[in-house]
Amino acid sequence: MSKYLPLGKISFGMGDRFAHQGKAQLRACVLATDLGADVVPVWNKSNREHTFIGTEPSSLRAEADAAVKALGWKKSYHVDADHIRLETVDRFIAPSDFFTIDVADTIGKPAPAADVKAFIDRHPELTGKLSIPHIDRPLEISRSEVERVANKFLLAVQDAGRIYRHIAKAKGEANFITEVSMDETDSPQTPHELLIILAALADEKVPLQTIAPKFTGRFNKGVDYVGDVQQFEKEFNEDLAVIAFAVKKYGLPASLKLSVHSGSDKFSIYEPIRKALKKFDAGLHIKTAGTTWLEELIGLAEAGGDGLEIAREIYAYAIQHVDEFCAPYATVIDIDKQKLPTAAAVNAWTSEQFVAALRHDQSNPAYNRSFRQLLHVSFKVAAKMGDRYYAALKKHEAVIAKNVIENLFDRHMKPLLLESHKPVKNSRSLEAVPA
Ligand SMILES: [Zn+2]
Repeated sequence: MSKYLPLGKISFGMGDRFAHQGKAQLRACVLATDLGADVVPVWNKSNREHTFIGTEPSSLRAEADAAVKALGWKKSYHVDADHIRLETVDRFIAPSDFFTIDVADTIGKPAPAADVKAFIDRHPELTGKLSIPHIDRPLEISRSEVERVANKFLLAVQDAGRIYRHIAKAKGEANFITEVSMDETDSPQTPHELLIILAALADEKVPLQTIAPKFTGRFNKGVDYVGDVQQFEKEFNEDLAVIAFAVKKYGLPASLKLSVHSGSDKFSIYEPIRKALKKFDAGLHIKTAGTTWLEELIGLAEAGGDGLEIAREIYAYAIQHVDEFCAPYATVIDIDKQKLPTAAAVNAWTSEQFVAALRHDQSNPAYNRSFRQLLHVSFKVAAKMGDRYYAALKKHEAVIAKNVIENLFDRHMKPLLLESHKPVKNSRSLEAVPA
């Protein structure tokens, strides 16, 4: 296997659409690390987000470096070119040291028949009974099933190899981390499919350290997991077992771990995830992006005055363009239009009402997940406001930072990483706001 830049065991992907919350996000990592949960911060932004907002990948590197400098962070951190492909990767190569190679588009397109046959012949161990530690019953995969899975995924894996080699040639293989993502596709990958995919990626000599499968259930943007939590737990544990097995069997990097995309706000699966990581002594990468943009809106609303005004205006525009804004995200949101308040109603809301509807506190009866999801996909409205939005972020930095930190640290890092967490209000994060 080629050389690679090592990635720490627990890493937290943090997206920041408008590039003003880097310090607050890092502050959450400091708090977790202080409590013994070493978190490696990774700032991620996809090509799609850069295009929507009108930013260049180098701006994310600048933001990460500035936050690290301001807080005196001495440990590792990374900048992730999120969901790139061969056509989009070039402008990311210099400023990024983490690449999420998205091969979802080629899943399901058959590889050349000779390649499929060669793969099956090369891997007789995949056919028949296969005992994997920590999976109750041996996997039983027939030759025709290996062929079906290879037909579905081999071209995507070859695609990942091509993109990996393109980056390695430009950047040097020891200088970056590779993730392969398959999450943006229709059907979840089963543990035995994951095993076959990992065997194929090892053949392609992709030294991947994180892999993002599509898990069972719905990972809607900015809201809790929707699905069968027990089924998720079983599958997640089996995926970890498969990864541990594949690392040994195929010589993949020992740091290889799962990456959970759209991982923010999935509160009901954090406990099963934490237990599984403990059981397997496994690492995790989790991506949280839009949740920080929503905390910006919450902070603006909480600030009142011109901040609340902006938050109301963004909603008023969003509700007029519901269908347009939701269309690109159809598979990752579930909005009940009946539950969306009118613009007139929201324009009469106080700070408290706006915050209560938007903040992800499921114990609050005023919390409105349809309202939250619509605003999640409406960040383009803030981008259109331009300087006025940025000026408000600066003006209300303290109250926004408080919300960004509390959200990442109290609602995400604590339940995921710390066993004895209590969801206490006024926890340390609220006092430790950067000036
Ligand atoms: Zn993703």
